[in-house]
Amino acid sequence: KQIQVAIDGPSGTGKSSVSKLVAKQHGWGYLDTGAMYRALTWWCLDQDVDLDDGPAVTDASKSFDLQMGTDPSNPTVAVGDRRIDAEIREPELTRQVAKVATNLEVRANMRERQRALMQQLAEQTGGVVAEGRDITTVVAPDADVRILMTASEEARLARRSKELSSTVEATRSQIVDRDKADSTVSQFMTAADGVTLVDTSELTFEESLAAVLQIVQG
Ligand code: C5P
Repeated sequence: KQIQVAIDGPSGTGKSSVSKLVAKQHGWGYLDTGAMYRALTWWCLDQDVDLDDGPAVTDASKSFDLQMGTDPSNPTVAVGDRRIDAEIREPELTRQVAKVATNLEVRANMRERQRALMQQLAEQTGGVVAEGRDITTVVAPDADVRILMTASEEARLARRSKELSSTVEATRSQIVDRDKADSTVSQFMTAADGVTLVDTSELTFEESLAAVLQIVQG
């Protein structure tokens, strides 16, 4: 049987690291859907597509040649043969992703790409772990395992500012503003029906991983 695992949550919960390790441990494919929205944003900027021009961004979301590397030990992102792994993590780009990700037609196109990739990975490797904001609710509401990882704002800020080596205050504007923008289109701060909540506020990384692995193992 092929296993689909969907993991949602805001940033700073340990979601990405946990998702990769769960996939790795089972030999499954890994899909970072946030990286897909980031890649689209990069492509629009590269092609001088105005991010406020909804129809133009929607066209780009249909046609761009996105290549997701889905090995959890070495996930990669490219458009055509241009690798953009570092570019999509730039703070300036991060601030702009919401413009693209709050466009509902863009989301519909990205959702189709995400479903196709999840299906393909499940067939190829026996399973898939897909992480994002709307995987448990919209992209794969029928996934075998659905988990929402949360953490208090303080815990997320502390982790994120350590990761980005910036101050808590500088990180606050990024995290809080981004959550607010993202919340307008997907519900990822509270668990939907049938979704298992893992609150990592008081957990170490190892404890968070163990909790998620246990849920996946059923
Ligand atoms: O997870 P990550 O921080 O890389 O996501 C970047 C952005 O992509 C989010 O802030 C959100 O705007 C968007 N996103 C989304 N739906 C997803 C995953 C990410 O809207 N499933």
